[in-house]
Amino acid sequence: MSEFKGIAMKGVCFKCVGEVETLEMADPIIEQPGDAILKVTMAGLCGSDLHLFHGREVGVDQGTVMGHEVVGEIVAVGDEVRDFKVGDTAFAPFTTSCGNCFYCQSGLTARCSSGQLFGWREEGNGLHGCQSEFVRVPLADGTLMKKPVGLSDVSALLLADNFSTGFFCAEMADITPGKTCVVIGCGTVGLLSIIAARNLGAEKLYAIDPIAERRQAAEALGATPLTPEAAVGEIKNATNGLGADSVMELVGNPAAQRLAYEVMRPGGTMSVVGCHCTPDFAFSPIDAFDKNLTYRTGRCPARHYMDKLTDRVADGEFEIDGFVTHRFSMDDSVRAYDVFSNRKDGCVKAVFEF
Ligand SMILES: [Zn+2]
Ligand SMILES: [Zn+2]
Repeated sequence: MSEFKGIAMKGVCFKCVGEVETLEMADPIIEQPGDAILKVTMAGLCGSDLHLFHGREVGVDQGTVMGHEVVGEIVAVGDEVRDFKVGDTAFAPFTTSCGNCFYCQSGLTARCSSGQLFGWREEGNGLHGCQSEFVRVPLADGTLMKKPVGLSDVSALLLADNFSTGFFCAEMADITPGKTCVVIGCGTVGLLSIIAARNLGAEKLYAIDPIAERRQAAEALGATPLTPEAAVGEIKNATNGLGADSVMELVGNPAAQRLAYEVMRPGGTMSVVGCHCTPDFAFSPIDAFDKNLTYRTGRCPARHYMDKLTDRVADGEFEIDGFVTHRFSMDDSVRAYDVFSNRKDGCVKAVFEF
């Protein structure tokens, strides 16, 4: 095991609903022989951090380090880590994964039998997040990926979650050239799903968002922008009254789910990566039956998508570096969460830089 003798670090911690605080805390240590410790260079703020921040998901301990998107340099490895050494630059998806179990082998790394979610600790168990100077990464050989030379920290961070999730959403939507496709929700993942959908051949692509700047960003990527109010009428008009073939829903609230149902034609596919925290669907089982609906959803197996996409991003096939709009220091965490969660100052994607 390599030497790493940190003493105290700072981390952005969950305080209570609506509040985070930057605290001094003990450095992480190697706890298992498969662990690595990353010295963080960039950590993302993500829409899914806001489920916890706003209290839509509950149960996380006060003092848990927030965040699950990370790029950094390895400063310590456990005895069983084979593929990484101190000094390597690496990035990690939002869940750990062993690389060997049934789920990892079949590409569903987000459901690894021994996987854990970063930034989720209940009653002292679980993993701290990545918005801190150092982070412990269990199952390092299966979880981490070396950052190729020429790949920026921003691109690596987006591959660790948002771009992989956008690509996963587009792939689940059964996109082929000629089909009418719709993206609902033009935050970072929605905009990146537009890039993915176009890569998969989407030509007739609509993007729905209530916020004008986000519609403009979608239009710049080649989608036709629509407000939620106008969307059903416009899409029906454009499809001889049928509706869209493929609908990607990246919002995660009942109104967006209902809209996804309304804009879709019978026999279409709804692909959902918005995280729905309400107990019921916004359409009924008979609604689904009457539309011959295919509904696909789930947590993105980001580690699997990192394998698929990293070289393609490093080679310049996808231009995703411009998606980070705001950068903060950890000492500015309260303002960072305020700006990000309230979309102040045109904020779409924010990161902590170290
Ligand atoms: Zn995320
Ligand atoms: Zn596994």
